[in-house]
Amino acid sequence: MQAIKVVENLYCIEGRGFDSNIYIIIDEDRKAMLVDCGTGLYFNQLLNTLDKLNIDLENIKGVILTHMHFDHSGGVVKLLERRSIDVLAHKIDAKYLEEGDDEYVFAWGFGAKLKPIKISAYLEEGNNINFGDFNFKVLHTPGHTKGSICLYDEERKILLSGDTVFAGGGVGRFDLPSGSLKDLINSLERLSKIKVDKLLPGHGEIVTENGNLHIKLALNWIKY
Ligand SMILES: [Zn+2]
Ligand SMILES: [Zn+2]
Repeated sequence: MQAIKVVENLYCIEGRGFDSNIYIIIDEDRKAMLVDCGTGLYFNQLLNTLDKLNIDLENIKGVILTHMHFDHSGGVVKLLERRSIDVLAHKIDAKYLEEGDDEYVFAWGFGAKLKPIKISAYLEEGNNINFGDFNFKVLHTPGHTKGSICLYDEERKILLSGDTVFAGGGVGRFDLPSGSLKDLINSLERLSKIKVDKLLPGHGEIVTENGNLHIKLALNWIKY
């Protein structure tokens, strides 16, 4: 696993196998906030990669989940086994994570089970997450799941899009429990109206410029 530098103090570890991408936001004290955490299958490799960035377990402050699915949340269980961290998720998906609802968190899709995860903060539309130099606004973007969020840094025009939209105009599945095509179209319409340079999705390649183009491609693809 290798960390790709997106901008100063923001890195991406591209997901291996079914794992989600893991984003690392670093503050001035070298504390780190992760966005999504993979399945946990490659947890030791994750710790090694973080080590290369001079971040050890003690420096991990928390994880923000873009949504509840196991390929993003499984790694949180591994982290919580080692130490106490903050876990943030939208209030709708938080409920299923706290129940360890295998059907909704889609753990069965990966032949796994999710241990219930205690959520420290329930996110909702409009919340601000300030960490280091970054100011992320929580955008509630249902469609892939009902409690899916994107994180938007308006100043830097960076969008962490979870499984709502991928590079090249791909979108996440909307046929899983709590998914909705109608919601997804509405969410993509909304995202197409904000200025996005860097599009950092939950899977696959990151986009370093003209992220808007990829969102518009997704919207065109899904609408027609
Ligand atoms: Zn995913
Ligand atoms: Zn997903």
